[in-house]
Amino acid sequence: MYSNSLIELDRAHLIHPVASYRGHEKLGVRVLASARGATVTDASGRQLIDGFAGLWCVNAGYGHESIVEAATRQMRELPYATGYFGLGSEPAIRLAAELADRAPGDLNHVYFTLGGSDAVDSTIRFIRYYWIGRGEPQRDQFISVEQGYHGSSTVGAGLTALPAFHAGFGIPFDWQHKIRSHYAYRNPVGNAPQAIIDASLAALRQKVEEIGPERVAAFYAEPIQGSGGVLVPPRGWMKAMRQLCRELGILFVADEVITGFGRTGPLFACHEDEIVPDFMTVAKGLTSGYVPMGAVFMGDHIYQTIADSAGAAAVGHGYTYSAHPVSAAVGLEVLKLYENGLLDNGRKAGARLMAGLESLRDHPLVGDVRGRGMLAAVELVVDKEKKTPLPAAAEPARRIFDRAWENGLVIRAFANGTLGYAPPLCCTEAEIDAIIERTRMTLDQTL
Ligand code: PLP
Repeated sequence: MYSNSLIELDRAHLIHPVASYRGHEKLGVRVLASARGATVTDASGRQLIDGFAGLWCVNAGYGHESIVEAATRQMRELPYATGYFGLGSEPAIRLAAELADRAPGDLNHVYFTLGGSDAVDSTIRFIRYYWIGRGEPQRDQFISVEQGYHGSSTVGAGLTALPAFHAGFGIPFDWQHKIRSHYAYRNPVGNAPQAIIDASLAALRQKVEEIGPERVAAFYAEPIQGSGGVLVPPRGWMKAMRQLCRELGILFVADEVITGFGRTGPLFACHEDEIVPDFMTVAKGLTSGYVPMGAVFMGDHIYQTIADSAGAAAVGHGYTYSAHPVSAAVGLEVLKLYENGLLDNGRKAGARLMAGLESLRDHPLVGDVRGRGMLAAVELVVDKEKKTPLPAAAEPARRIFDRAWENGLVIRAFANGTLGYAPPLCCTEAEIDAIIERTRMTLDQTL
């Protein structure tokens, strides 16, 4: 077992993200000690397949020497360089250029952050600067989608539409609005793709009308809603929503923090959805989780408007660690890996994962299977006909997570019992098969 002293130190001092503090104190921490490829080893020596790539981020898998070398080299050469005062570093400039080259359409300008939350947060500020620059400062209302997740910063958490992130805070703020999710399995309009798309279009139109079309600044959407339970919109949903935003004259932000960097197949899901958003946010797979980094992509038209409007004055937005050279060096190396086989492997492994999860549909507990590429979910129900969810409490989720763990598998168990999958893109066929086998074993034990 783990060292008792470590568990005690954790209990006494380390605050864990999105956790029941009391529940965690009772259960104690599980300490991860090392990892290689898609396998993590805990401090007691138990080996598990990481079916969730850490937190949907270790896309390249663990233990890549070339990534470690890139970081080490950069730390030796130049461990820090600010972007303030007109300064910069080579890896940050090169990474911005490489990313711009691969991004959809005119998303040619890249602002680096420390992760996804501050990337989303940054878009809110840039969007305000943009509308002020356009002479429409009254456009200060933002719309996102129920079940969406856009991070945990104080303001971004208001765009996030998961109640756990709002309790007691009075957010979302009154300038943050929501429309119903496309969630096909439980959609009142049924699961026909066009009906779902039409309902979302009507909801957005109606929301914009309610707020006042001249007041709306932007609409935010994830290509696939991750933290809301891996909710996959029908093909064409993103494109239709993007077109409607253009028609309504509001900005469209694609939040690719999870879907970016091969998670759904291509480098960016926007490529597959055939859209060019006004802004795109990324993080996680950008550095494969080895070091923290996120980014905001902005279109030429946005950048030029903000730049012209500020003129000689500074655009007042920045972080000490924006464009950190070590993170950028890692980003450059990870990008090479994606293009030298990782994306291809992820696509093949993703097809196998989806086929494997589909084969679980015969299980009495499985209500829905959904996903795209290496991003998937199995929604568990107690009654398939009535689609009765598992009791909405943390307990069942924790029990399923624990059983999977005992079976050598790390998965995400959402509070309603939905199981989330986002394995590293480097998974072998045998590892994908083991994920399916261990899931079935876990479900059988849950019956
Ligand atoms: N946006 C989306 C779509 C995410 O899934 C997440 C995190 O899961 C974030 C933003 C926030 O990113 P971070 O946790 O790096 O702050």
